[in-house]
Amino acid sequence: MKTETAKQGRETMTKKSTGKNLDLSKEFHQHYAPSLESREIVKIAERYELFIGGRWVKPQTKEYFPTLNPATGEVLSQLARAGAADVDLAVKTARQAYTKVWSKTSGRDRSRYLFRIARLIQERSRELAVLETIDNGKPIKETRDVDLPLVAAHFFYNAGWADKLEYAFPGKKVAPLGVAAQVIPWNFPLLMAAWKIAPALATGNTVVLKAAETTSLTALALAEICAQAGLPDGVVNIITGAGETGAALVNHPDVNKVAFTGSTEVGKIIARAIAPTKKRLTLELGGKSAHMIFADAAIDQAVEGIINGIYFNQGHVCCAGSRLLVEESVADEVVRKLKKRMESIRVGNPLDKNTDIGAINSQGELEKIKKLVAIGKQEEGEFFEPASGTLPSKGYFHKPCFFNRVASSSTLNRVEIFGPVLTITTFRTPEEAISKANDTPYGLAAGIWSEKGSKIHQVASALKAGVVWANTYNKFDPTSPFGGYNESGFGREGGRHGLFPYLEVK
Ligand code: NAP
Ligand code: MG
Repeated sequence: MKTETAKQGRETMTKKSTGKNLDLSKEFHQHYAPSLESREIVKIAERYELFIGGRWVKPQTKEYFPTLNPATGEVLSQLARAGAADVDLAVKTARQAYTKVWSKTSGRDRSRYLFRIARLIQERSRELAVLETIDNGKPIKETRDVDLPLVAAHFFYNAGWADKLEYAFPGKKVAPLGVAAQVIPWNFPLLMAAWKIAPALATGNTVVLKAAETTSLTALALAEICAQAGLPDGVVNIITGAGETGAALVNHPDVNKVAFTGSTEVGKIIARAIAPTKKRLTLELGGKSAHMIFADAAIDQAVEGIINGIYFNQGHVCCAGSRLLVEESVADEVVRKLKKRMESIRVGNPLDKNTDIGAINSQGELEKIKKLVAIGKQEEGEFFEPASGTLPSKGYFHKPCFFNRVASSSTLNRVEIFGPVLTITTFRTPEEAISKANDTPYGLAAGIWSEKGSKIHQVASALKAGVVWANTYNKFDPTSPFGGYNESGFGREGGRHGLFPYLEVK
């Protein structure tokens, strides 16, 4: 009698049902049943005004611009374009709220408002996750399981500090700075708003925040939540517009503090512009972070870590582990396992709960990524992208890919791509790994995979990076400070350190 192993049996079944000799893993991948999150829970208005002084105010420019769903190209809504006069009104309103109300509000009461905002975020969490996914293009499992829990956690964490600031800085006197001008990018829209607004309010400052042009909807929902929480009018003002709006805000003479997250290029423009002023500044900028795999690492876990490090959020992560450094003796094994794992990554509809990689946020970003990949193909290095899975016909999508055996000096190894593109180089000793990891103008993050604790400590202490993860990657926590070295910026967000940039400490 002929016997079949389980594997042979499955292969025979596949041949019988399709008439073709298919690779089972690809077949499985392509036929994964969709599991769509409903967007019914989200109500998007046709048009949004500016949130100034607790009210929705029409822009004095009388101009509006569309915001799109990058997975479909559909126009979701029209947003107000704030001009210089609108920025001026927002800053004046924030100043008044600071002088008359917020600077006189006790830490205990500030804490209550922040707790209330945190709880409202939790209550509306599913709605906000769906809204973020529609407006940004990131997968629902990420907005639901990563962004939203962290957004609420940042408000909870800072709420805890608001009435205990004298314990945060023992023996010192602390005072708020006044009005904070905050400008954020599109990659973690609501989370970046939370990173900015929560510590500013906890420390007693008022805020004018400009959301990114392509992803303002969740910041506007947060404005609504501030009103719902009964936050005094003018304490948080949220405005929309493009780069010029951001420039008008950070250059307004009556702001005391500028907090910017975005590209190094714009960070430098801002630093130059406010250098002659008394404004305080924190910059959270770009990165080209090294992810190092030592031969003694648990390789299968490390491969998962690499996937999470670079392909999480379409690679739209400032601290993405975009430069993989692998110890030479295990490089072939790591690359082989990585290729196999990449065949089962699901790229597609961000509202599908199975999706691992959603849409690239805008056409401009997609073109930038494609241009860099084309440059990579001309330079040395072996290109790989999974054969399985097809990209949706509409919207902005890019397959995960990597370039193996690239030179440290190659363009792709030096430039921030901000997409699902990895470079791979090898090293032979920890010293070589450290020197290659530090060979970058940036210094935001790094990852180390090794089973040996002493090696992890030795390597971590020699790395010039603000965050170093060991045997994990892309883990965030509101209690932990985050920020960069060199061209990745300065100042810290999160933790006790994150309160400091908003305070005068005497
Ligand atoms: P970006 O082009 O620098 O824009 C960031 C924000 O600044 C947006 O709101 C933008 O408005 C505004 N802006 C543009 N020009 C300005 C100017 N001259 N003055 C003031 N504001 C201006 O960056 P992005 O492309 O949105 O975001 C990606 C970058 O952010 C990457 O480099 C990434 O590494 C970095 N990032 C860093 C961190 C971190 O914590 N270190 C976190 C996330 C992202 P518009 O949207 O309207 O153009
Ligand atoms: Mg959008």
